[in-house]
Amino acid sequence: MNKIEHIGIAVKNLENSNELFSKLFGEPHYKIEEVESEGVNTSFFKVGENKIELLEATNEDSPIAKFINKKGEGIHHIAFDVTDIEAEIKRLKNEGFKVLNETPKRGADNKLVAFLHPKSSNGVLIELCQEIKG
Ligand code: ZN
Repeated sequence: MNKIEHIGIAVKNLENSNELFSKLFGEPHYKIEEVESEGVNTSFFKVGENKIELLEATNEDSPIAKFINKKGEGIHHIAFDVTDIEAEIKRLKNEGFKVLNETPKRGADNKLVAFLHPKSSNGVLIELCQEIKG
């Protein structure tokens, strides 16, 4: 893994949270994107070299809606940048991690993504992401 790509935070209301985090960082978000397959609206902030992703559910079946119902708002996942996501999925499976997406899917921010089940990583939902080139 190369570096932390971003940290994902589950929020109830993206508009309110965009305002709140803009105040916190002193800069507005640089993009908003809906990921229909995941049932989420996302926004991204840059903080120096780091990125923060806010996620709001767009329907009740969204993983974000379920997360908030169970745990409330807060840190939802940590995403790591990888060079070859398929190789990394294979490697982590061999190491005994439970991979939620055997085949990487298209995520927000022009990335191929796959998730590891939090049960296999001390309660932390891990996202792998590989930048889609071109
Ligand atoms: Zn993410």
